[in-house]
Amino acid sequence: MKKGTVVVLSGASSVGKAEIRDLLLKDDDLKLFYSISETTRPKKEDEVDGRDYYFVSHEAFANSVKNKELLEYTEFNGYYYGTPKAQIDYLVNLGKNVLIEVEAQGVGSIKLNMPEAIAFYVMPTSFEELEKHIIDRYGDDEASIQRRLNKAKMDMEIAPLFRNVVYNDDPEKAYQQIKTKVLKEMEKKD
Ligand code: 5GP
Repeated sequence: MKKGTVVVLSGASSVGKAEIRDLLLKDDDLKLFYSISETTRPKKEDEVDGRDYYFVSHEAFANSVKNKELLEYTEFNGYYYGTPKAQIDYLVNLGKNVLIEVEAQGVGSIKLNMPEAIAFYVMPTSFEELEKHIIDRYGDDEASIQRRLNKAKMDMEIAPLFRNVVYNDDPEKAYQQIKTKVLKEMEKKD
């Protein structure tokens, strides 16, 4: 059976990845299944355990690492995030396409383990624009804003290593660009 395609969506915090991700997941041509990450970050009010993330304790996360259950993992803003490997292998072997959303460092490990994965990096139109989004979103939590800005700066330095950089001046446009490229790659497999 033909294996499924793995699509990786990356980019700095608050660059608007979530909006693009939702458009990609709704697309009937792409038929993407979302890879749900494990995290030690506390659940936000509008999030659902098992839909947005698997919210786990530090101990459970450490066990996943120890048992080599994660394709990659990272520490971000004081919490751990990791991509469970089994669900991706299962879906891909069934011929299903999978979307993984990670911050920039995670992409390298995914590409090492799955060189055939197609990775996209979402860039803000400018750093000032991104700064505005981060401040709007994280309000008065100065420490969190600074951490996210520093991380965004670092991530944007890695961006040129990505073959597929997409500018998010318009999420619909960015989504269409990604869709075109992914469909082309999927066709090559036929
Ligand atoms: P948030 O706390 O805003 O949901 O996520 C923070 C950052 O962690 C985002 O950039 C998100 O893409 C990234 N992230 C979510 N899950 C994973 C994961 O499993 N691995 C890695 N490396 N990053 C992740």
